[in-house]
Amino acid sequence: MLIDTHAHVNFNAYKSDADEVIRRSLNDEVWMINVGTSYRTSKKAVEIAEKYEKGIYAAVGLHPIHLDTGLVKIKNDPAELPSATHEAGAEEIIIRARGESFAYDKYRELAKSKKVVAIGETGFDYYYRPKTKRKLEIFKEKQRLGLCQQLNLAKELNLPVIFHCRMAHQDLIEVLNLQLTTYNLQLKGVMHCFVGSLEQLQRYLEMGFYIGFDGIIFKKIEGIDFEEIIKNTPLDKILIETDCPYLTPPISVNQHLNQQESAGMLRNEPIFVKYIAERIAKIKGLNFEEIAKITTENAKRLFNI
Ligand SMILES: [Zn+2]
Repeated sequence: MLIDTHAHVNFNAYKSDADEVIRRSLNDEVWMINVGTSYRTSKKAVEIAEKYEKGIYAAVGLHPIHLDTGLVKIKNDPAELPSATHEAGAEEIIIRARGESFAYDKYRELAKSKKVVAIGETGFDYYYRPKTKRKLEIFKEKQRLGLCQQLNLAKELNLPVIFHCRMAHQDLIEVLNLQLTTYNLQLKGVMHCFVGSLEQLQRYLEMGFYIGFDGIIFKKIEGIDFEEIIKNTPLDKILIETDCPYLTPPISVNQHLNQQESAGMLRNEPIFVKYIAERIAKIKGLNFEEIAKITTENAKRLFNI
């Protein structure tokens, strides 16, 4: 069996066939954690998990791009959330979503479900950012605050954290280091979809975090050598994930059961997590069964499932 530790079957991309996708996955012995990115998708992840007796779990959290900083325009991805309001006069469907501030009590209430195994995804995302130096500082500070509130919730509920980090490792490492050393906070978690340097990888490993790999390892990203990163990540710290509907592994395209397009790309789904396991097995010089067993044990250990 395999565990897709980062899926989004709670997203709008699966609006019409989420149950089918899940059944297909369970038949293939692939369990999953559906990860929330806003209150709405977190709630949906919990509702889905509660429908199944076994194998389907949820994480609840507020993704930094959905955090209302008042400083950048937030555009909804229709694969994530259904259209809310169309901008008047706009020809294409560009939806301006309202950002959220982190409603601690509401998320805590959701996290009471036994199916909730983590807080997240939370972290930093500096991809869309304000241009002026002063606004950028406030923007970063607001994301830091959103993250710290969620770290507090994780601590209160004794849950691991699923971290999202884009173009911001320095700041995330600083926050986590401060939490772990100065405040002595017991933090467990995973760096989902890790894209960073070997040095940054080392810092996260030293702090005890797991590293999540998905379809991005098949991409060419300047300055990033995924093979080296995987070689340098100890086996007992590797988690596999899809981040579906995004990051479809290229190898799965020919075998795609359901040629559904979502936001102009071939929709990924949890069953394709096997391609991530295959690739990691090859890099680590192990067979598929060994990687499947190790990564499943890792996921069960971190998420207490
Ligand atoms: Zn995600």
